[in-house]
Amino acid sequence: METQHSSIPIKLNLSNFIAGKFAPPSAKTFPVVNPATEEQIAVCSEASVEEVDQAVAAAKRAFYKGIDGHKAWKDVPGAERKALLKKLAELMQRDLDIIAKLNSIDLGAPMMASKALTMGAIAKLDWCAATAERITGETVEPKPNPDGSGSNLFSCSWRQPFGVVAGIAPWNIPAVSFVVKVGAAVACGNTIVYKDSEKTPLAGAYLAQLSAEAGFPPGIINVIHGHGVPAGEALSLHMDVRMITFTGSCVTGKVITANSGRSNLKKVCLELGGKSAAIVFEDADLPKAIQNAFMSFTRNSGQVCAAHTRVYAHESILDQFVDGLKQYAARVVPGDPMLPDTRMGPLVDSKQYDRVKGYLAAAQHEAHFLHGTSDPVKNKGYYIQPTILVPNSDDVSVVRDEIFGPIVCVMPFKTEEEVLARVNDTEFGLHGGIYTTNLSKALRVSREMEAGTVGINTGIIVDDRLPFGGWKQSGSGRENGTAFIEDFTELKTVHIAY
Ligand code: NAD
Repeated sequence: METQHSSIPIKLNLSNFIAGKFAPPSAKTFPVVNPATEEQIAVCSEASVEEVDQAVAAAKRAFYKGIDGHKAWKDVPGAERKALLKKLAELMQRDLDIIAKLNSIDLGAPMMASKALTMGAIAKLDWCAATAERITGETVEPKPNPDGSGSNLFSCSWRQPFGVVAGIAPWNIPAVSFVVKVGAAVACGNTIVYKDSEKTPLAGAYLAQLSAEAGFPPGIINVIHGHGVPAGEALSLHMDVRMITFTGSCVTGKVITANSGRSNLKKVCLELGGKSAAIVFEDADLPKAIQNAFMSFTRNSGQVCAAHTRVYAHESILDQFVDGLKQYAARVVPGDPMLPDTRMGPLVDSKQYDRVKGYLAAAQHEAHFLHGTSDPVKNKGYYIQPTILVPNSDDVSVVRDEIFGPIVCVMPFKTEEEVLARVNDTEFGLHGGIYTTNLSKALRVSREMEAGTVGINTGIIVDDRLPFGGWKQSGSGRENGTAFIEDFTELKTVHIAY
């Protein structure tokens, strides 16, 4: 199954990649659409339940026995896993421009942002590679054996892979999603069946191809395409999938968790949505706070899980703050992602466009518009301009719901105690921002914020060496750092009498 549009820079196979080969095209297919032009650019295989079974069976065989004469993946040492992951990272670096362009074509991210995202993905893969040799357990002080035999006990714990892991990804960061799921699973010694989002299958398809070139034995990395139902559902219900790493909406995260309970109680790690807040105190470095706040809600056209979409500005600096934000907004006109000067592209598809438009319409009754409009004019492409709202209260949909578009709500506050209560009054807990030049206040407030990551006088930073994930309904488990090892491995305790 090949792409049909000249703007895709390479021949790309959009069939399922199972046991080291692209399978024949599936009976059902779905279109891939460029959100900047609304043109269909490719058709992609839609994995059936049987094809999901084939992918899981290949991953299981590769783990326990090995395929085509390769040794069982469970017996492959960390150093070999590291070398393969490093090779894949090198190939991604070689093909950086191609991967970035694929991200831009189906997601709509501007080329400059796509390149930065792809470079971030390569760094993450390098980190996973390095971690493959650092899968460690614990040892404890030897002690007398309590069985009365007079022998002593040496005891330790090991971390071992689950076997088959399933990865289910969202559409907003395609190459990064592939790397954090596939890289982590494989570094820890698992095999994986990875399902990309149906909205952005191009980068995953290309990375499947690169994984074969990197020398991964068949069945270690399997990539399937398709919608939540049947493909995602079949993975989450599968009895041979032992762990699932999911990134996406809270609604789907709950379905996947329930499906784990309905099947084999597979371990579920969730990276879910957010409605993150930033607090701008009266003593903040305002130009920096304004610039970061603007970047935060407009990067990737606002389709970022950790985006600061609620900004609480102290009442004494509110006017200055919103004036600054409006000046940035006036300078950014969303446009063709392929042009070098474009800073903001379209939303990913018509469904996301309609969702965002729905919230803009609601905002007519819930808020006052400082920039943007409740009824955007639609030409070709799913473009929405940066929108700045001052809501009537904290209890309206534009403040409470994750919108996933370039919309920010700015609200005044008077005291630290008041603003913390308002910031934490949400079911989400992914990220938080604090702008102040008072270190004591910064540390005090960051301690009280209910969020997996807090940035003090900085925008959203994801450091590969440190964990990233959410509190409350923003998720469970962690990506990055060494925390992911805990999520992607089983623990075994071993006692030795001597
Ligand atoms: P989504 O939940 O609609 O879809 C995510 C994935 O789940 C897709 O691959 C989809 O096909 C699959 N899916 C849908 N229904 C399913 C089902 N019943 N069973 C199994 N799989 C199913 O989310 P989305 O719209 O693709 O992504 C946007 C969401 O992802 C936002 O909420 C965003 O905040 C979140 N996100 C979170 C992080 C994070 O690190 N916390 C990162 C990126 C995106």
